[in-house]
Amino acid sequence: MGCNGCNKTEEEKQAERERVARLQREYDAEVEEAKVLGKPMPHLGRQVFNVAKSATKFVASGFEMSDKETRDDRLNSCLRCDSFEAGRCLECGCFVALKTQSLAEECPLGNWSEQ
Ligand code: SF4
Repeated sequence: MGCNGCNKTEEEKQAERERVARLQREYDAEVEEAKVLGKPMPHLGRQVFNVAKSATKFVASGFEMSDKETRDDRLNSCLRCDSFEAGRCLECGCFVALKTQSLAEECPLGNWSEQ
């Protein structure tokens, strides 16, 4: 007879412990993923401020555009980033396709290789 009236063998109990540990790991991974996916966009006022700041930097740079290589490099970083969702950066709220075109722009997390 096993513990507390349980008839499981040691092998079965070990298999059960491993199954519970695996389920716990899967659950933890799902919670982490949900935290990322549930990451909110910055407050609307903050987004407006960021757009105004970007526009000011773009004008101050003399409307300098990034070249194709830089743009592609930036976009590749964004596509691999946890803060990228539905074409937008969740850190600043900017549309990544536009953000990557202005040479004066920077990644808020420093993920672009040129930074
Ligand atoms: S700009 Fe930076 S933080 Fe935003 S999505 Fe791209 S790599 Fe991520």
